Amino acid sequence: MATAELTLKSLESDVHPDWCPGCGDFGVLKSIKEAIVELHIASHDVLIVSGIGCSSNLPGFVRTYGVHSLHGRAVPVATGAALANHALHVIAVGGDGDGYGIGIGHFIHAMRRNLNLTYIVMDNEIYGLTTGQTSPTTTEGHKTKSTPRGNVEKPIQPLALALAAGATYVARGFSGDQKQLTRLVTGAIAHKGFSLVDVFSPCVTFNKINSYSFFKERVYRLEDERHDPSDLMAAMTKSLEFEPRIPIGLLYEQVRPTYEDTEPVLSKGPLVDQPLGLDRKTFDEILAETM
Ligand code: SF4
Repeated sequence: MATAELTLKSLESDVHPDWCPGCGDFGVLKSIKEAIVELHIASHDVLIVSGIGCSSNLPGFVRTYGVHSLHGRAVPVATGAALANHALHVIAVGGDGDGYGIGIGHFIHAMRRNLNLTYIVMDNEIYGLTTGQTSPTTTEGHKTKSTPRGNVEKPIQPLALALAAGATYVARGFSGDQKQLTRLVTGAIAHKGFSLVDVFSPCVTFNKINSYSFFKERVYRLEDERHDPSDLMAAMTKSLEFEPRIPIGLLYEQVRPTYEDTEPVLSKGPLVDQPLGLDRKTFDEILAETM
């Protein structure tokens, strides 16, 4: 598709979202589409990869390339694609259970490598697809199906983890602030290096605590308080703030070489442009064996 034809409408797929009415993930889907249009990226130059969960159905709802992978494995699949084809804008998406639970190891290592990809986490602080169990970001005391007497575990702080691990674009958005969310997602996709956008994306069906009104009463925009995104320690302080106010916006941005820039094997170009080192006969034999 030529970029001139790129519109929000042209990015709609034939599959309509199956999310509950009011789910925060609708806002994230809209912001991803708006960002692609804003950046004039042809849809065939975008790959969206997900894991498992309500939010991980997202790649099916956008007319780009997409992979609905395994639970917690969005980031490693996205990593492979980003290393193989540098022309692609690779966006991994998923929920807090997927990314900060089973996928936490991949999350940390992708950030310390500063791989050139974007990770958008639809953080609703609950497992939604499995009908409301405690997730890694569920707050203390929250009564869920798996913790009927209240959650006794401390929630993970994903933004602090991202800063400590070396992510070079760290932001938090809110589905109830569409304009800012689109700006953050646009900045994340445009950023060269690992970009994380953790999004408060309310689960209106199974999380009655962390609702739109909960966040509306607490969030404030970092850009309104002259936060300096080049200041790592200021970003770390903001990443741990939750009560009584919660910052949303760009916490931190840094320019430094990506993994793709520094890995010697990739100095000859992306893997898709490099010879396999096999003659045609051997290639055909391997292909036949694996198909
Ligand atoms: Fe969204 Fe929750 Fe419904 Fe899943 S269960 S689609 S997270 S509102």
